[in-house]
Amino acid sequence: MPSMKAAVLHGINDIRVEEIEMPSIKSDDEVLIRIRAVGICGSDIHYYREGRIGRFVVTKPHILGHECAGEIVEVGKAVKHLKPGDKVAIEPGVGCRRCKYCHEGRYNLCPDETFMGTPPTGGAFTEYVVWSGDFVYKLPEEVPYEAGALCEPLAVALHAINMSDMKPAATVAVLGCGPIGLALIQAALASGAARVIATDIYPLRLDKAKELGASEVFNAKEVDAVQAILDATGGEGADVVFEAAGSVTAQRQSFSVVKSGGVIVLVGMTAETVTEVPLLDLITREYQVRGILRYANSYPQAVAFTILGKVNLLPIVTHRFPLDSIVEALEVSDTRKDESIKVMIKMD
Ligand SMILES: [Zn+2]
Ligand SMILES: [Zn+2]
Repeated sequence: MPSMKAAVLHGINDIRVEEIEMPSIKSDDEVLIRIRAVGICGSDIHYYREGRIGRFVVTKPHILGHECAGEIVEVGKAVKHLKPGDKVAIEPGVGCRRCKYCHEGRYNLCPDETFMGTPPTGGAFTEYVVWSGDFVYKLPEEVPYEAGALCEPLAVALHAINMSDMKPAATVAVLGCGPIGLALIQAALASGAARVIATDIYPLRLDKAKELGASEVFNAKEVDAVQAILDATGGEGADVVFEAAGSVTAQRQSFSVVKSGGVIVLVGMTAETVTEVPLLDLITREYQVRGILRYANSYPQAVAFTILGKVNLLPIVTHRFPLDSIVEALEVSDTRKDESIKVMIKMD
């Protein structure tokens, strides 16, 4: 049996790089991919530190990682759009294709969705992965593997924008400039926003927000973020507010900085399951609050914006590590938020 290197999570804070059996194509619509770049996501950190996220619990040795790009090694007989040697971005969430959510195109809500790196499905912190060919997108040779991997957070941002019904020339507020918030800034501008106002508490992230096109950035530790956004919008608030900090504080702020008639999209997840919503304010100002889960149908948009160069998230990559240094990579991503944004595992 041919073997490959993989970073295997054995328990809380216990991840080891070891040799495991190489996967092989089992059905005609699958492809075998050599992984070249994988981003570390907040969800990987949760599994590493806590062994679970909600109902998803790591009970057996498990491989994390889902923000990935690679090179096609082999394709099943039914795969026509890819060939060995192609550079590809991989959409990690595949619906069951049979339930009503899948039929409605909302496969992110499929109760039987297979998501790469989410138990029981193995992830991409390994050398080779087998995946459904129709969830694999060809990239031109000049697009770096890292940019392909960054299509994943970009797909989250584009799904949030699709769900917001944002209009051209909108004023947008992005609360929280982690990888998703930063992706939202560029995705909103590429999708026609006139102006993006961003908040965070880390100077590095605010600098990146400016670099990626935010017109105004505010440090929520130094100024009253709500007042700053209201002042910047003539007291009106933003047409669309994206909460991307995953904090109750930012959720509360979003109710205060949305324009009457505007839309709030809650992108971040909080440990708290209940937050007070000022319902009378919501009713009388006719604003809406929407949730999103990952994405559906936005990967092709993410790939297209990346190929066209309308979005370039490469500046958010602050650290790069080989697979052998996965523990250090996870530690940096988790504990050095002041100096790291997106940490990438590179396999050359
Ligand atoms: Zn992710
Ligand atoms: Zn389904």
